[in-house]
Amino acid sequence: MMKILVINSGSSSIKYKLFDMPSQRLITKGLIDRIGEAGSKFSNHYSGLKVILEKIKSVDAVGHRVVHGAEKFKKPTLVDQNVIKGIKKCCAIAPLHNPANLSGILACQKLLPGTKQVAVFDTAFHQSIPEHAYIYGLPYEYYQRLGARKYGFHGTSHEYVAAEASRILKKPLNKLKLITCHLGNGCSITAIDKGKSVDTSMGFTPLEGLVMGTRCGDTDPALIIHIMRKKKLDTKQMDRILNKESGLKGISGISNDVRLLEEKVGAGNKRAKLALDIFVYRIRKYIGAYLSVLGGLDALIFTAGIGENQADIRENICRGLFGCLGKKPKIMIIPTNEELMIARQTFKLITRRA
Ligand code: ADP
Repeated sequence: MMKILVINSGSSSIKYKLFDMPSQRLITKGLIDRIGEAGSKFSNHYSGLKVILEKIKSVDAVGHRVVHGAEKFKKPTLVDQNVIKGIKKCCAIAPLHNPANLSGILACQKLLPGTKQVAVFDTAFHQSIPEHAYIYGLPYEYYQRLGARKYGFHGTSHEYVAAEASRILKKPLNKLKLITCHLGNGCSITAIDKGKSVDTSMGFTPLEGLVMGTRCGDTDPALIIHIMRKKKLDTKQMDRILNKESGLKGISGISNDVRLLEEKVGAGNKRAKLALDIFVYRIRKYIGAYLSVLGGLDALIFTAGIGENQADIRENICRGLFGCLGKKPKIMIIPTNEELMIARQTFKLITRRA
């Protein structure tokens, strides 16, 4: 029996879950937010984690969510000084996420000296994507010098629901072709062949691919340059618009929340309807593309806030989609549990080493 603490530290928050392993029982969970904000009790991640650890008392190992592992980290990794250096290096291409993840790791090192820590990377599951799918049509030198390529995100979630699908269908992963749709505020879709990610919609950053709550997804890059010129925007302003003011929120002019948009559609709001139509259309396009990437499909899986709860959106996505296939794939709704996946991977790594 082992108590495994899973930490997801964001720029101003720490989410945690404590699991008993291998039973996978959730012992407790919680959230500390507003870290570093004016008037908050917590000036940094260290003070937040201190309070969490005082509450939960004993921990055998810690699993950390780390957003970006670049090409260096292809699987869950036991943290040591070299790994910390590696995660620091990845901060250059994930400046919004990795520094916060790292703060959580460093705080745990101080507060729990000698306790094993494992880093689980959002990008790792997608490291199996082949070169022809991850290299962009840009000068190759940018890949070599700047690491400019598709990495993909939400890997832990896609991997978890694929494993669940295999368990539910009673078929080994190496006999399955799957498309997994993680539709939350951030949205991504992955083609999984024999348990391996072979393509995914997010790219160098989480901005590529589907239309999301506030992110635009696929857009003509030249249009961005055009808008910056016309509106005299600098890179920081444009970055904000693409990540925070676009997607469902930007199109509807109302909200990024699908539930609110549906209410508005009910009241006859055209822009809310347009936003949801675009959202669904983009997902259908990707499913079509991944059908041809996989050359068949056993199951289409929906997960995260929208994927798990919005039956009408799922129906609109699936309507008439599989007429061309000989055998209709299973449509599955599988609640994601990234924290449990991190606990499983942490437990596996620690016990294997022991
Ligand atoms: P995040 O990516 O922030 O974890 P979620 O997975 O919670 O996001 O998804 C948020 C989206 O899911 C919102 O658009 C919300 O409208 C939608 N949603 C629909 N039904 C529910 C529900 N019952 N609970 C939570 N979110 C829901």
